[in-house]
Amino acid sequence: HLDRIAEVDGAVHAFLHVDAEGALAAARLVDATLAEGGDPVSPLAGVPLALKDVFTTKDMPTTCGSKTLEHWLPPYDATVTRRLREAGMVVLGKTNMDEFAMGSSTENSAFGPTRNPWDLDRIPGGSGGGSSASVAAFEAPLAIGTDTGGSIRQPAAVTGTVGVKPTYGGVSRYGLVAFSSSLDQGGPCARTVLDAALLHEIIAGHDPLDSTSIERPVPAVVAAAREGAKGDLSGMRIGVVAQFQGEGYQSGVLGSFESAVARLRELGAEIVEVSCPSFDYALSAYYLIAPSECSSNLARFDAMRYGLRVGDDGTRSAEEVMSLSREAGFGAEVKRRIMLGTYALSSGYYDAYYGSAQKVRTLIARDFASAFEQVDVLVSPTTPTTAFRIGERVDDPLAMYLADLCTIPANLAGNAAMSVPSGLSDDDGLPVGLQVMAPALADERLYRVGAAYE
Ligand code: GLN
Repeated sequence: HLDRIAEVDGAVHAFLHVDAEGALAAARLVDATLAEGGDPVSPLAGVPLALKDVFTTKDMPTTCGSKTLEHWLPPYDATVTRRLREAGMVVLGKTNMDEFAMGSSTENSAFGPTRNPWDLDRIPGGSGGGSSASVAAFEAPLAIGTDTGGSIRQPAAVTGTVGVKPTYGGVSRYGLVAFSSSLDQGGPCARTVLDAALLHEIIAGHDPLDSTSIERPVPAVVAAAREGAKGDLSGMRIGVVAQFQGEGYQSGVLGSFESAVARLRELGAEIVEVSCPSFDYALSAYYLIAPSECSSNLARFDAMRYGLRVGDDGTRSAEEVMSLSREAGFGAEVKRRIMLGTYALSSGYYDAYYGSAQKVRTLIARDFASAFEQVDVLVSPTTPTTAFRIGERVDDPLAMYLADLCTIPANLAGNAAMSVPSGLSDDDGLPVGLQVMAPALADERLYRVGAAYE
């Protein structure tokens, strides 16, 4: 994999940092244990992977794709990082991302975009474009992403890979640099559903260091993927979300979705059309809630304790240094969100914006709850379009936000959701993803359906 990275990453730019020495040392340690007749510590011991640069790593920089953290070496490992190491996995390096995970194309990285291995002129999705591209380009067999509004599933869809957002609270957020804390969730990126399940079981589980971590056993997703691989979905009821079709969707995406539904029926599932009317407001609610939480979370980058510091020449006040540093350290999208969020939370506007968005969030959770009284899982296209061209939407934030139209409801409700490859679009020959959504704590269902379908 290190050779492959050396060969293709100049063009793909999936990695911000490659730790060849550390990776080889970790791999040798596993080899030595096995040579001495020891047991592999986990089913993935010795398997390399790529880690989104938003998880802290003690021995590697953690930049979050931002100039603000360009030279930051965290003093501790995230729980996810620690679990990977304890499982004997080999961290190849840190992957590129939109700054602080805000974006849908990886073009908001301060260190240049990642390119889609299927077509280097196109985006690999975002914010976790680096993780999904590294898997699609065979630079890593597995990767870790984070999904606040779609940043694991949307890149998976447009790079023809698998991506899973576990139930909120299923994977620890300790050491995951916060964007929108009530939505952020780490999860696996892989080339097959079973691979994703193996990685899911390693990173999931209760963590006392994260107050929102669920105190429940890790879901048996590997067993569910193996069960699904038998290709029998009889007895399962699958709902097609009425709201996620029609206008705004490319015909190639809709064509692929129609074939996917037909295939699920062939596998024995009963297909039901389900209406979730509040999903129409999910995008608007998300773009109030996520910026609100981000404006608060990013206040910690004050240039005093860590991060970029500008203008500290003894003539300026702390406030001036803070302001100059934030001006220089944050990119345009991050600033836009901080301003939006600060406005939405300000006195006099709070009820009208943030308060309304929270009410919509409740309505969306209720739509899911009533849908899941009728069906076991819901399906939709993962994204309305295939990978767009680099540069195409950079000047149009609203067009960029539309990439997450179908993925956001699951974040707002805290549910589990997956994107599984669904062939190539008839329009342009690019990968399309099928999204599967399950109730919170029912992550197994995603793997059963995903493995049967892939
Ligand atoms: N594209 C969405 C945003 O810009 C989702 C990002 C994410 O899931 N991290 O906020």
